[in-house]
Amino acid sequence: MSELTSPTGLGLRDEGPREEWFNDEQTGERLVRMGDLVFPPRKVWIKTFGCQMNYHDSERILSHLKDLNFSHTEEVDDADLVLFNTCAVRDLANNKFYSHLGNLKHQKAKNKGLVVGVGGCVAQTEGKDLVKKFDHLDFAFGPDTIDSINDMVFRTYAGESKFSVNTWDRSSNFSIETKITHGNPQAFVNIIKGCNKYCTYCIVPYTRGKERSRRAHEVYDDIRKLVEYSGIQEVMLLGQNVNSFGKENGESLAELLMLLEKIDGLELVRYTTSHPYDISDELIAVHGEAKKLSRHLHLPVQSGSATVLQRMNREYTPEHYLGLLEKMRAANPNMVISTDIIAGFVNETDEEHKDTLKLLDAAQFDFIYSYAYSERSKTRASRWQDNLSDDIRGERLREIQAYQLQIQEKIRAKMVGNTYRVLVDGNRVFKGEKKWKGRTNCNRIIHFLPETTEQNLQWHWVDVEVTQTTALSCQGKMITNIGRRIPKDLSVPYKLW
Ligand code: SF4
Repeated sequence: MSELTSPTGLGLRDEGPREEWFNDEQTGERLVRMGDLVFPPRKVWIKTFGCQMNYHDSERILSHLKDLNFSHTEEVDDADLVLFNTCAVRDLANNKFYSHLGNLKHQKAKNKGLVVGVGGCVAQTEGKDLVKKFDHLDFAFGPDTIDSINDMVFRTYAGESKFSVNTWDRSSNFSIETKITHGNPQAFVNIIKGCNKYCTYCIVPYTRGKERSRRAHEVYDDIRKLVEYSGIQEVMLLGQNVNSFGKENGESLAELLMLLEKIDGLELVRYTTSHPYDISDELIAVHGEAKKLSRHLHLPVQSGSATVLQRMNREYTPEHYLGLLEKMRAANPNMVISTDIIAGFVNETDEEHKDTLKLLDAAQFDFIYSYAYSERSKTRASRWQDNLSDDIRGERLREIQAYQLQIQEKIRAKMVGNTYRVLVDGNRVFKGEKKWKGRTNCNRIIHFLPETTEQNLQWHWVDVEVTQTTALSCQGKMITNIGRRIPKDLSVPYKLW
């Protein structure tokens, strides 16, 4: 493969032909020339599986493809190019991907010009085999090559078929510019890629490589421009382990968060995903100081058993984890914490399982994402003899979920009567009534009725009083419609964000 270059901070791509826009002299149609090929307007359909990082990558892919005259379609039957962005972390996502890919065979039989590509974590480890196995698959590409998507699509249209690209970006700096295609005020911003942790159940370090951070000043400039030119008001800083941000450059997530405080017009900063081992005292202190930082922290614990955590290679104990929550809540008493739990890890005993229930009691999580352990090939845990049956795993998962729901119900009940500010992001009809919904600063979703049925509240900031809750939902009534921007006098600190 030729050398990868990134002169503009737009990510790494092959040296070679670049896209050039021109108008057809006869029809006036906007066309793109790349090398000796002309690209007329075409449509791309993309299916994304897995985590927020994958959704962010898909948006980036679509944004690059715009430069090659592709527009996004929601209808797979209308597409000239079909892409899958895959996830290797969960079985369910994996199975769904294979079934979708299989079904496409018929579409390609009807439309020979259809181009099909597979990206993401499955493509990183199995791309070559996938291309061999599925006749109708044209190319596969790993997550570190997404900025070269136009080069790969070009190669396919130039007649090259059946190739797989899973090279790593080995440059010492990780430099990109966030690309967004939507018109809403929220943006994902990737600040670090890869992971150095090697949890024994996880495939990510093998599919996304070693940790590499962007420089803090680059992230700051990137977000400042998003706020200034694209109307962004809320950002989610993304990475497999954002708490490691900047280590190799002598920088830190805590410093970056304080830097982002200076951006006028930026209202809310969230970050995910965190590893408890890398939460520093400095970062905890920032949660008490920073005005734009969300009061919600997602901090995956995975298990409440010290011995299971050891087998998972998580590098902390339940006591250390609970100590972090205590410090976090001391720094900011309004902190809301959520977590991930894996039920039935390899050879988990009944006692180890009960330790997880005890931890749920002690931690008082606002919500949890819980999964039954499923083996991922190429991980260390997949090589171990495992005595646990799927039935036991399922039982334990259900017990964890039921236990957590009781805790959650009590926590949510305390919200009744309080007012929260939400950014409205959609609506749904409940029993014939249209209700709008928004997410609080602390990441709870509230559904509420508008003042009038005609009111369009999409992307408005709204203060909502919570009137009713269950373990899984919050209902409220609108108190104030602030509008699409928060005036300075109504800005932070707001009493009940
Ligand atoms: S911290 Fe562990 S679970 Fe998270 S991505 Fe890294 S290896 Fe996977």
